[in-house]
Amino acid sequence: MKEFVFQNPVKLIFGKNSIAKLANELSAYGNRILVVYGGGSIKRNGLYNEVMEILKEEEKEVFELAGVEPNPRVSTARKGAALCKEHNIDFILAVGGGSVIDCTKLIATAAKYDGDAWDFVIKKDSPKNAIPFGTILTLAATGSEMNAGSVITNEETEEKYGWGGPFNFPKFSILDPTYTLTLPKDQTVYGIVDMMSHIFEQYFHSTTNTPLQDELCEGALRAIMEAGEKLVDDLQNYELRETILLGGTWGLNGFLGMGNNGGDWGTHDIEHAVSAVYDIPHAGGLAILFPHWMRHTLKLNPARYARLAVKVFGVDPEGKTDEAIANEGIDRLREYWTAIGAPEKLSDYGIDDSKIDLMAKKAAVNGPLGRYAQLSEGEVKSILEASL
Ligand code: NAP
Ligand code: FE
Repeated sequence: MKEFVFQNPVKLIFGKNSIAKLANELSAYGNRILVVYGGGSIKRNGLYNEVMEILKEEEKEVFELAGVEPNPRVSTARKGAALCKEHNIDFILAVGGGSVIDCTKLIATAAKYDGDAWDFVIKKDSPKNAIPFGTILTLAATGSEMNAGSVITNEETEEKYGWGGPFNFPKFSILDPTYTLTLPKDQTVYGIVDMMSHIFEQYFHSTTNTPLQDELCEGALRAIMEAGEKLVDDLQNYELRETILLGGTWGLNGFLGMGNNGGDWGTHDIEHAVSAVYDIPHAGGLAILFPHWMRHTLKLNPARYARLAVKVFGVDPEGKTDEAIANEGIDRLREYWTAIGAPEKLSDYGIDDSKIDLMAKKAAVNGPLGRYAQLSEGEVKSILEASL
């Protein structure tokens, strides 16, 4: 195992009607609240009204930032930070999916900073302070509700990067599966793909003696896949939504990365380059790229990919080489994602080979990517070409 220091201070408030605990949570903070949300899904499903009622009852002074984009933009975070400064905001409440939460993380830190919000994303500077914030999650996928990560797009420069730090942990996250019942099938599928990808990123590492972490990853993948394939045909099923909601949180709250150097994350870097240039859904990109990343990197440790194939995808290993077992496992992953409705090829989004060089360059801008596979720009290019 790799030595590690672990701390995750996020208070999770999970289950039906957990919003009833919001007022109590807010009582620890000041009166001026900024509510951050996306393009209107919370207005259509009634959550907006519920939140506003509670804030009114608590006599909070409420400000709003609406319209956070999927793949949130630095320009929106700048707008939010300016609002915080102008109105002396005490607490930010993010109501929505990963994009709303990620944007809130940048707003919260940029509001306490004299420079430009983008400085934190490109690590030119690091936050020294932040406005406290909490979340009400409406989409199971990113784990952002219980981690310190944030992914932000600069629409002018076509760059998209992840950044993080100790100020990025929510004070609390309210997770009521009820709010995820209104997710359409495509967003539900993207969520399943994203959380599975987060687990794959942490499963592929070069650390030895990690039996507990490996079993946790495999078990989580099996539970998510079993619930996921039923859920896509039964979108209103509360129990399945419960499993998937907790699956998203567990996929990326740090527990699975303990002692294994935190995982690889190369596929996420490649996907960020793709969605920076083409603004496609994050997990749509992952569903296309991950099987190709696995085929490309399989030679590094065929036994590990074979173990995944047997323990998660049910491949019969009898009389086969590790490489053959591993490839069968990757085939089954592809089949599973295709069966639940995830895209297979970049051309499903109308992406051709014209910007492959640009995407590979953007992905490898800081040198080789991935802690485990460490891909060169040329290797990224060949993964992108295989994904066309
Ligand atoms: P999202 O971008 O937050 O939301 C996707 C879409 O789903 C939006 O159009 C949103 O509509 C809609 N939606 C959300 N909740 C809904 C509900 N309950 N009912 C109906 N529609 C709903 O999706 P996400 O997958 O959670 O976040 C993706 C972003 O997170 C990407 O930028 C990705 O790179 C990043 N990411 C972050 C981390 C991390 O650790 N921080 C990890 C992986 C990925 P509205 O806008 O109208 O609400
Ligand atoms: Fe992700």
